[in-house]
Amino acid sequence: MLKLSGKAVYKGIVMGPVAVLGKDDQSIKRTKITDADAEIVRVDKAGEQAKAQLQKLYDKALKEVGESSAAIFEVHQMMLEDEDYLDAIHNMIRTEMVNAEYAVAVTGDNFSEMFAGMDNDYMKARAADIKDISNRLVRNLTGREDMSLTDMEPSIIVADDLSPSETVQMDKEKILAFVTVHGSTNSHTAILARMMNIPALIGVEVDLNEIHTGMKAVVDSLKGEVIFDPSEDIYAEAEKKIQEEQEKYRLLQSLKGKENVTRSGRKIHIFANIGSVSDVGYVLENDAGGIGLFRSEFLYLGRDDFPTEEEQFQAYKQVAQTMAGKKVVIRTLDIGADKQVDYFHLGREDNPAMGYRAIRICLKQPDIFKTQLRALLRAAVYGNISIMYPMIISVEEVRQIQAIVSEVEAELKEKEIPYKMPEQGIMIETPAAVMVSDELAELVDFFSIGTNDLTQYTLAVDRQNERLDDFYNPHHKAILRMLRMVTENAHKCGKWVGICGELGADLELTEEFLRMGIDELSVAPSMVLKIRKIVRESEV
Ligand code: PEP
Ligand code: MG
Repeated sequence: MLKLSGKAVYKGIVMGPVAVLGKDDQSIKRTKITDADAEIVRVDKAGEQAKAQLQKLYDKALKEVGESSAAIFEVHQMMLEDEDYLDAIHNMIRTEMVNAEYAVAVTGDNFSEMFAGMDNDYMKARAADIKDISNRLVRNLTGREDMSLTDMEPSIIVADDLSPSETVQMDKEKILAFVTVHGSTNSHTAILARMMNIPALIGVEVDLNEIHTGMKAVVDSLKGEVIFDPSEDIYAEAEKKIQEEQEKYRLLQSLKGKENVTRSGRKIHIFANIGSVSDVGYVLENDAGGIGLFRSEFLYLGRDDFPTEEEQFQAYKQVAQTMAGKKVVIRTLDIGADKQVDYFHLGREDNPAMGYRAIRICLKQPDIFKTQLRALLRAAVYGNISIMYPMIISVEEVRQIQAIVSEVEAELKEKEIPYKMPEQGIMIETPAAVMVSDELAELVDFFSIGTNDLTQYTLAVDRQNERLDDFYNPHHKAILRMLRMVTENAHKCGKWVGICGELGADLELTEEFLRMGIDELSVAPSMVLKIRKIVRESEV
C-alpha cells in the first residue's frame, strides 16, 4: 500500500484500476549517419505527417471540448513551423552527423528547458507543448503509433504530466480520475477536470516505476490523497464513501428546476462562468440560471491574429441563442498579465498584473475595442446579452467607455445594421473601484465583483505565485468589508450586484453572501447545484 498526497484540482472520490501513462521514454539511440540531406528529408516528412495528425486532433477537440481547448493544436501546428526550432534540428544533423530521431529529441529537450526557465507563466507552460510536438515527431520517425486509449477500461490516469494532446485524445467516459506528478491549477488537464467533474490531484510525488497499469487505487481528492494498492479495509471504506457521495450527487440532481430561495423567501441568482461557446453545454446540464461571466478573451487566445467582428458576432450570437432568453454577461477582453497574446505585441513588463491589460488596452487601442463592441451590440438582438467591462479604476474610464459605445451605436444606426443596446456593467476588482463604487453605481447597470483580482490587489499578493498560497486569503476582513460596501453602494442606486470570482463558489460563505444582500453568484457550472442546496436550506 502506498499513500500519497497532492493538491486537489477537482474534488471527488473514486476507486478502480490504474493506467500509467509513461513518458515517451523509449530511449532514443544516437547513431552516426552519412547522408545529412536524407535525414533532413525524413524530419520534414515527419513534420508534414504531424501537421495532418494535429489537424485531426483540432477537429476532434473542437467538437468535444470547444474552441478554447482546441486552439492549442493550432499552436502546435505553428510551433512545428518555427524556424529556430527546425534550424536547431537541421544544424545538429549536419554538424554532428546524427540520426533525425536523436536530433529531434535533444532539440526538444533543450527548447523545453529554455521555456521552463522563463519568467513568464504563459511561456513556461509552452515547455510541455514543445515536448509534446518533439515526441510526436519522434513517434512519426520511428513509425510508432499515436497513443490510443480507446480500448482501456475506465481507469485512474496516472502520469508525470499530461500534455494537451494526450488529454484530448482520451475518451472521457474512461477517465475515473487524474493523478499527476506535475501540472498547475491552470493546466489544460485541470480546466478539463473541473468542467467535466472528474476528480483530479496534481503535485503527487509518485515514482512511476513503483506503480503499474492494472493495479488498484483509491483517489480521494476531498482529502487530497491517493492510495495505490489499498488494503481491503481501505477499499471497503472508500466504497462506502463513494456511495455517500453518489447519494449526495443524486440529491443534488433532484434540485434541478428548483428555485434558489431560502426558507425565509430570499432569492438569489446562481449563474455560471464560461470560457468558450462549447462550455454552454455544462451550463445547461447543471441548470444554471444564466451566464454571469463569459471570459471573451479566450476567443483571442491561441491564434495568430485578431478574431474578426464576424467570428465574434457568431460566437456571442450562438451563446445568446442557446441560452434562450436567460442572461448572458459577456466580459470585454481581459488580455494582458497572465493571458498573453503575441499579435497584441504588448511587450515585456516588470509588473504585468499591474500593467497594460484589459480595459486599458481597449481605451488605448479603440479599434480593437470597437470591433468587439460592434459584435456584441449586433449579437444582443438574438438574446439577453449584458456587457461587462474589466479592471475599472475610475469614473473617467466609464465615461470614456460610454463615449466609445455611443460612437459604435451611431455607426451601426447609420449603416442600418440591426443592433440592440444591452445592459452594461463593470467588474469591481480593484480597491479603487470599491472606494468610488458609490459614484460608479450611478453610471452603470450592475456590478460584478472579481474577487480573484480584488484579493491580489488588496492584499498585495500575486495570485499566480504558488509560494504565496498561504497569504492569499480571500476571507480577509478587508475583502469581506469591501464586498459589503460595494453591495450597499450598488443597492443605494437600485443596481444589482454579483460575484464572479472564485470566492462566489466558496460554500462556507454562501450564507454570508445572502446576509450581505448579494443578488447573484456566478461560479463554475459544477458548483451551481451545491450552492442551490445551501441556499434552500438557509434561514437567512
Ligand atoms: C476575478 O478577477 O475575480 C475575475 C473573475 O476575473 P479573472 O479571474 O478572469 O481575472
Ligand atoms: Mg479579474
